[in-house]
Amino acid sequence: MLSNRQLFFEHVAQTTTDPLGLEIVSAEGIFLHAADGKKYIDLVSGVSVSNVGHTHPEVVEAVQKQAAKHMHLMVYGEMIQTPQVQYAGLLTSNLAAHLNTVYFVNSGSEAVEGAMKLAKRATGRSGIVAFHNAYHGGTQGALSILGNEQLKRPFRPLLPGITHLNFNKSGELSLIDQTTACVIVEPIQAEAGIIVPDIQYVKALRRRCDEVGALLVFDEIQTGFGRTGRLFAHEHFGVTPDIMTIAKSMGGGMPIGAFVAEHSLMKQLTYNPALGHITTFGGHPVSCAAALASLKVILRDDLVSRANEIGAVFREKMQHPRIKNVRGEGLFLAADLEDIFIPDFMKFAAQNGIIFDPFLFNSEAFRIAPPLIISKEQAIEIAEKLVALIDKFVKTKK
Ligand code: PLP
Repeated sequence: MLSNRQLFFEHVAQTTTDPLGLEIVSAEGIFLHAADGKKYIDLVSGVSVSNVGHTHPEVVEAVQKQAAKHMHLMVYGEMIQTPQVQYAGLLTSNLAAHLNTVYFVNSGSEAVEGAMKLAKRATGRSGIVAFHNAYHGGTQGALSILGNEQLKRPFRPLLPGITHLNFNKSGELSLIDQTTACVIVEPIQAEAGIIVPDIQYVKALRRRCDEVGALLVFDEIQTGFGRTGRLFAHEHFGVTPDIMTIAKSMGGGMPIGAFVAEHSLMKQLTYNPALGHITTFGGHPVSCAAALASLKVILRDDLVSRANEIGAVFREKMQHPRIKNVRGEGLFLAADLEDIFIPDFMKFAAQNGIIFDPFLFNSEAFRIAPPLIISKEQAIEIAEKLVALIDKFVKTKK
């Protein structure tokens, strides 16, 4: 009989030639447990998914209860389902008043697709402005706006009419014009290596969109649900979008995404044509039940404040001559290393029980994004361990 490892390498499609390949059998809180008995600290959270920690008991209970009541009933949007409507109510009560309608989908990429379609439908325009080093997903629309040519080239032709700007450069905002349906932007760029823009820049971006009638879409798929020390990252800038995309930590570990907009704007997907976006499993009741439980935990346990508090611990404790800088907001952090090859250091850290991952578009930094339920004591211990590991790694390379 083939082992799980053999089945993985022989029958499961791979995304790289060199996957981490750890066999994880269970997870709880900030820990992953491997089949060989080893325990790993998770500094990735499935790339900002597990904000409430792995297998949070209230999320697990919500999933189990909902699965026993009913799972999928009908394509999205036709039936009233308690977890979906309760979630939409709770989420929108925590957003700016105009972000009052939730279109549920399955993933971040689908949320981005939906937001782009809504902007085109509502404005009657086809131009889309996006940013260099932005990541918005793997489907062909999301890939079209992704800001890295290497990842796109083999899949062209992609969508026409896309303009890429440099992030945080006010001088380029004039390229947003009357042909622009929407500007789609991460309020804090993630895969570029956690780039926090100036408040004035984000305000100017909002103003320019208003001047030319373009919709502003904030992709909060990685930054949402407390990760950056605000419930949503746009709160740092006092600027609200016309459309917001969410996914990842939304489901507390279950797959779900959504785009959120004002009611009359969202309504445009219901006519000319009707069924402007169709999704079979979008807003799956079990995922919505998990999302509802997860959001309740984030709000009740004030994980937003905790992200700020613990983020400050990492910043303070991550001191080493090879650490140039720890950058970001809340627990959405990047540590810039000097003269260390990140993929090698990543493998070394994994061998020593810490899982972190690199950024797609920044080879000099690594991500610090543990579950937000991490305790202060755990953070101090992990930061000290990371610093000691950098030391050890540098010595092995001498
Ligand atoms: N947008 C951002 C900012 C992301 O980080 C991601 C995923 O990493 C996506 C969109 C795509 O989400 P998904 O992988 O759920 O399709």
